[in-house]
Amino acid sequence: MSEGSKPQYLSKSRFVAGWQCPALLWRKVHEPDAPELVPDKALQDRFDQGVHVGEVAQTRFPDGVLIDVPYWDFEGRVAATESALEDGAPAIFEASFLADDVFVAVDVLERTDEGFNLIEVKSSTSQKDEHIPDAAIQVHVARESGIDVDRAEIMHLSKEHRCPNIGDLFQRTDVTNPVEGLLPLIPEEINKQLEVIRGPLPEVDLGFHCFEPRRCPFINRCWPEVENHISTLYNAGPKKAWQYILEGINTIADIPADRRLPAPARRQVRSLEEGRMIVEPGLAAAIILHRFGVGLMLWLIVHPVFGGRAAWLTLFAMAAATIAGFEFSEWLLPLADDAFISAVQGVIVGTIIHGLVHRGHVDRHAD
Ligand code: SF4
Repeated sequence: MSEGSKPQYLSKSRFVAGWQCPALLWRKVHEPDAPELVPDKALQDRFDQGVHVGEVAQTRFPDGVLIDVPYWDFEGRVAATESALEDGAPAIFEASFLADDVFVAVDVLERTDEGFNLIEVKSSTSQKDEHIPDAAIQVHVARESGIDVDRAEIMHLSKEHRCPNIGDLFQRTDVTNPVEGLLPLIPEEINKQLEVIRGPLPEVDLGFHCFEPRRCPFINRCWPEVENHISTLYNAGPKKAWQYILEGINTIADIPADRRLPAPARRQVRSLEEGRMIVEPGLAAAIILHRFGVGLMLWLIVHPVFGGRAAWLTLFAMAAATIAGFEFSEWLLPLADDAFISAVQGVIVGTIIHGLVHRGHVDRHAD
């Protein structure tokens, strides 16, 4: 049986979703195939990165035992964990416990002289507040299963690490105190969340929780479609957008005229008011200034290897491409998605680097 067909249980990912919003939890449980839940390329890459980080983290615990039982086989995983505990494993990866109708698989359960250290592995470069409920539900279920958890840690990537191998890749942050502070709330929260998944879709007010700690994938379903919603204002992140909404400013048109805004946001407001694209007079000069540096670099790369004619041709091509981009961007951009634009930029940057790195190669052949 897959997790999607076990609506009566909570898991740590479901608990974290329910901590953010009951409606998000309900949809994740009852609509596991919703298109909003299909990860896009960027999210899938983050998932894959997280899995890889987890695998590397396991190498930090010699003689650790992996609970290598299919995820959906809750009972089999719990039994394998009990067996590893009885065998005295120094560390158990994916240690699995089921209590209060909540199933958790702990990234690393490390045996210590005092008891057990429960470690949640994250691919972030710091410990964040959102990690605390995640760790707390695991500590609760592990303790309910008879495990003497005396410490909780988040093991995340270290900002001090330098490629290829300078400094430790991981940093371990003790979160025992905030987790202990949250634990008294966990039983009631579990009951609330179990009621949610066993009942109809709950009605939930929209709010800041729709954006934090993660942007909810169901925003387009819950939020009314409002033209020029305030969240589309330049540089208005979730926090700022929500502050505007609390002030009754739901669209860009609602912004009071005397409100101080950054220049691009002010231009956006003017553009909507006047119903036209606004091109500031300084834009052309700014583009030329920016292109001057790029052009100089191209000249320095191309001229010594291919000569003056090729260098002038390269600069001419860059100028033509800049003018074409300026003139036709409105028409061209809708034809290309982000991945295509990134690929084109990659080809250009790759070509420049290739020109730099292979200069000696060309010279050798010339000899
Ligand atoms: S958009 Fe907001 S209210 Fe709707 S499910 Fe997501 S978090 Fe809940």
